[in-house]
Amino acid sequence: MPRYDPDCIFCKIAAGEIPATVVYRNDYVMAFRDLNPAAPIHVLIIPLEHIASLSHLSADDEQIASQILLAARTVAEKTGVLDSGYRLVFNNGPDALQSVGHIHAHLIGGRTMAWPPFAGHEIRHG
Ligand code: 5GP
Ligand code: ZN
Repeated sequence: MPRYDPDCIFCKIAAGEIPATVVYRNDYVMAFRDLNPAAPIHVLIIPLEHIASLSHLSADDEQIASQILLAARTVAEKTGVLDSGYRLVFNNGPDALQSVGHIHAHLIGGRTMAWPPFAGHEIRHG
């Protein structure tokens, strides 16, 4: 059974229950424009199945995990940033400010960027 969380907005987008501007889709993943873009190109790449975060990936998800990366490359080409450059960001967990609990890669491009990307402050865990 495909994993689906009825309370998850990205599951609803994957199911077509919430509209999105779709850039790419195959049997494993889809890519759509971020509602609140942080750059001229800002596309989210998600697995069609619900997986809450990178920390919830298992070895059984090998194909889904690789499809996310391959889709990123396709999206970069489709959005015209393959050669100019782009950044792929997975916000994972609270410190990284993950706000939607369904794995998503942000593909960001169309502008120059800063490195490192921190605006917050350092926290010691454990
Ligand atoms: P996070 O903060 O979890 O890394 O990223 C979540 C992203 O999802 C944010 O950039 C936010 O703008 C985007 N987002 C949240 N809800 C929706 C939605 O309903 N549609 C689309 N297209 N993007 C969304
Ligand atoms: Zn979901």
